[in-house]
Amino acid sequence: MPHSAPSTIDSVETAAKARVGKPRKVPRVVILGGGTVGMYTARRLRKRLGRREAAIVVVDPRPYMTYAPFLPEAAAGSIDPRNVVAPHRRALKGVDVLQGKVSQVHHAERTVEITPEEGEPYWITYDHLVVGLGSVARTLPIPGLAEQAVGFKNVEEAIAVRNHVLNRIDLAASTWDPELRRRMLTFVFVGGGFAGVEALAELEDIARYNVRHYKQVEQDELRFVLVEGSPRILPEVSEELGGYTLEQLRKRNIEIHLSTFLSSCVDGHVVLSTGVELDADTIVWTAGVKANPVLQQSDLPLDQLGRVTTNARLQVVEADGTVVADAYAAGDCAAVPDLYNPGQFCPPNAQHALREGNHLGDNLARVLRSAEPTEYKHRNVGAVASLGMYKGVAQMFGKIKVRGFPAWVLHRTYHVFAMPTVNRKLRIMAGWTGSLLLRREVVPLGSLHDPRAEFRAASVPPRPRVVEPGEKDPSVGGASTAKNAS
Ligand SMILES: Cc1cc2nc3c(=O)[nH]c(=O)nc-3n(C[C@H](O)[C@H](O)[C@H](O)COP(=O)(O)OP(=O)(O)OC[C@H]3O[C@@H](n4cnc5c(N)ncnc54)[C@H](O)[C@@H]3O)c2cc1C
Repeated sequence: MPHSAPSTIDSVETAAKARVGKPRKVPRVVILGGGTVGMYTARRLRKRLGRREAAIVVVDPRPYMTYAPFLPEAAAGSIDPRNVVAPHRRALKGVDVLQGKVSQVHHAERTVEITPEEGEPYWITYDHLVVGLGSVARTLPIPGLAEQAVGFKNVEEAIAVRNHVLNRIDLAASTWDPELRRRMLTFVFVGGGFAGVEALAELEDIARYNVRHYKQVEQDELRFVLVEGSPRILPEVSEELGGYTLEQLRKRNIEIHLSTFLSSCVDGHVVLSTGVELDADTIVWTAGVKANPVLQQSDLPLDQLGRVTTNARLQVVEADGTVVADAYAAGDCAAVPDLYNPGQFCPPNAQHALREGNHLGDNLARVLRSAEPTEYKHRNVGAVASLGMYKGVAQMFGKIKVRGFPAWVLHRTYHVFAMPTVNRKLRIMAGWTGSLLLRREVVPLGSLHDPRAEFRAASVPPRPRVVEPGEKDPSVGGASTAKNAS
């Protein structure tokens, strides 16, 4: 079936003509990316302006926004994966949602190209552009990495890692080959920032909890390894709290290699820069992010790290500070000046992305009502991390350091309030209550990742067609005489 763009959207030519001949009655704001920035900008703008004042279009290949700070807990099974995402069509009332990837941006012509998962790419036009395309994993050309490792940036990856870890334990319990067991029960995480440490700690916690139910697997057979290039972990908190976390993880027998790099992992044979070698079936890469590379396919000004350059009003600016009319950017893909730390940029985290999104929604509403946009200013409130059930670390307002159970409670409280939509907040809290009463759910659903495997195996191959005498047998390269099919 031929695919056509939704009715609210014009093709480049017709839209361009319409713009020249007759200005749009309602200005159109196109938001690239329906993640933290996209979701909060769209919601705030819709709240501020009625449908007759602005048409809002959000473009994202996924039908939902992911609240990434909850991914480690989703991987540990403490939160239902469906509850760490907010579906666009439900959360974005009064907003048009287009499912597809932005593949080019021609801001000079006020057009963007959208490539849907199926069908031909098409262009849409706009009057105002918001770029909230986020980041992707920053990888390195390490032999074996692309083939063996998995990222931890979205809900699909988090759930795949959970199922894989639990599935390895299941498989190890059914084999007596010591080398195979060692390999299956070795889990390597590369990157000691927040995402890596939380993912590792949550998965180690659930793996140990799970192993209690196995007679054939001993706790000390589980080997969790963290590889970090710098001399410390959790650069987001003070050295003291980073040191405390390190100590806690080591007490849990987690092996930590600091000032160490992954050199190679061909076929799961991990080689570290210190010469340490080990075999692992699970390698999770969480060593940093970079701005979404699709921005290279745009005419927007980018800095050396590929981020869109903005001023503190979140307007896109050229290197000399000249404002690029009608373009705004925020979040992981933007270099937004941090007014509390002159000369620096806001760090790529949800704390900023969420507030920048709200601020951008307010600013756009002001601009569309012919007022001046205001500057975004936010003092970091701190960082909270969960390290497994009832364990955590937190640093609030730079000074207050919290450890253990209170930090874990703080982590859950802070993030559940930041999670968009009341519906999601309630579902998450209901899930936590259920887990406290009924214990955690640890069943691996490995087959989710290849649901057709069993059906494929059960399928009967089609019977070969009987080739009539003298007819050319299509299964044979040249002409042949007919054989009776059995
Ligand atoms: C595991 C993990 C844990 C984290 N923990 C914390 C934490 O505890 N605290 C904290 O403050 N921050 C945390 N972060 C960071 C935080 O989640 C991000 O900084 C924040 O989500 C950035 O928001 P964003 O809107 O810029 O990007 P995102 O929220 O990533 O949104 C980008 C959107 O763009 C879409 N997109 C991508 N490519 C295209 C395309 N070509 N066309 C259209 N759309 C596209 C994506 O699908 C996505 O919806 C964590 C991140 C991870 C991965």
